[in-house]
Amino acid sequence: MKRISFCDLAKLNLPMMAEIERSLLRVARSGRYIGGTEVSDFEEKLCRLTGAGYAVGTGNGLDALKLIMRGWIATGVLQYGDEVIVAANTYIASILAIEDAGLVPRLVDPDPETMLLSAEGIERHVTDKVKAVMPVHLYGRVDWNEDIADVVRSHGLLVIEDCAQAIGAYPSAAGVCGRRNMAGALGHAGALSFYPTKNIGALGDAGAVLTDDKELAQAVRALSNYGSDRRYHNIIAEGCNSRLDPIQSAVLSVKLDYLESVGRRRRKVAAIYDRLIDNCVVVKPEIPETAEEHVWHQYVVKVPDRWCRDSFRQYLERKGVQTDVHYAVPPHLQPCYRGRIWAQQEFHVACDLADRVVSLPVATVSDDEAVRVAEAVNGWRIP
Ligand SMILES: *Cc1c(COP(=O)(O)O)cnc(C)c1O
Repeated sequence: MKRISFCDLAKLNLPMMAEIERSLLRVARSGRYIGGTEVSDFEEKLCRLTGAGYAVGTGNGLDALKLIMRGWIATGVLQYGDEVIVAANTYIASILAIEDAGLVPRLVDPDPETMLLSAEGIERHVTDKVKAVMPVHLYGRVDWNEDIADVVRSHGLLVIEDCAQAIGAYPSAAGVCGRRNMAGALGHAGALSFYPTKNIGALGDAGAVLTDDKELAQAVRALSNYGSDRRYHNIIAEGCNSRLDPIQSAVLSVKLDYLESVGRRRRKVAAIYDRLIDNCVVVKPEIPETAEEHVWHQYVVKVPDRWCRDSFRQYLERKGVQTDVHYAVPPHLQPCYRGRIWAQQEFHVACDLADRVVSLPVATVSDDEAVRVAEAVNGWRIP
């Protein structure tokens, strides 16, 4: 039987390939390879889609996060040493970006059911040093609700969304601007990633910053372009070169038109898994109250421990089902952070998740294949 791959990128892009090829040719023949209308048109499209006032393309999602925080340092909104609350089970990029700006991560264990930072988690860890919170919409589920909005408001915290995994998701509550925007446009600033495997992926690296704050948008734009606000006029020393290419903008503009169908497809696969997976040692992910809150970047199940996870994955591989793990080592246990004070505490939930999570294929799975995956999962027994 045909192997079900975790994510087949060529297959993913096939339905829109003719349009992608036309866009690539248009840019190749245009003679304009940095900036220009391909980029600004795509940025405007992002604003219309998400509800954000400004969108600034960047080279990738990590840089989008970095430039937001460097931008707030450059404009005096944040000071070196300020702390940023973030979930301890996030991808390391969130943490790299916080430290890059001279800020300090304040890790908080996630809620074990949603696997996301909760309002209580934020409330319990706010101190005078904490100036911002970074909700990470991990696995495609938006980490925003009335309670979080209340905590953030009552403590006057800045909100930076790590929206790398959740473009297209909608929360149940309005964002800090008072509008019920799309994920990424809920906080004071949000970072998108268009890494090829993300729900909307470029043909290479790409990212974007979303914000309503004109001053921040200008700072991010300058930072991404050597710190210059106009040619040969440099206003920020922390500048770098991290621009969104016209060629990626053109491709992404095509793919953005498929955002709804991508969401529909992923929700269908998740619904099949939720309906059919029935194995007492495999815990399915919690389903949010409204379907719009989740775009199922990953469908993550939990098995009892690290040892049977290896057996589970090998068993599925023998059944022709490729899986992945997001992520096996939490950031605070990575060798690069040995000795950091913020990494010294124990984060039981994050460590438990790191031992137990398994991501089932979603991106390029047909209905029939989803049924096959569910049946394979149901046939597994702990050795
Ligand atoms: C992918 C990802 C990033 C980084 O995005 P890149 O475009 O790969 O730099 C940041 N945070 C999270 C949660 C991600 O999944």
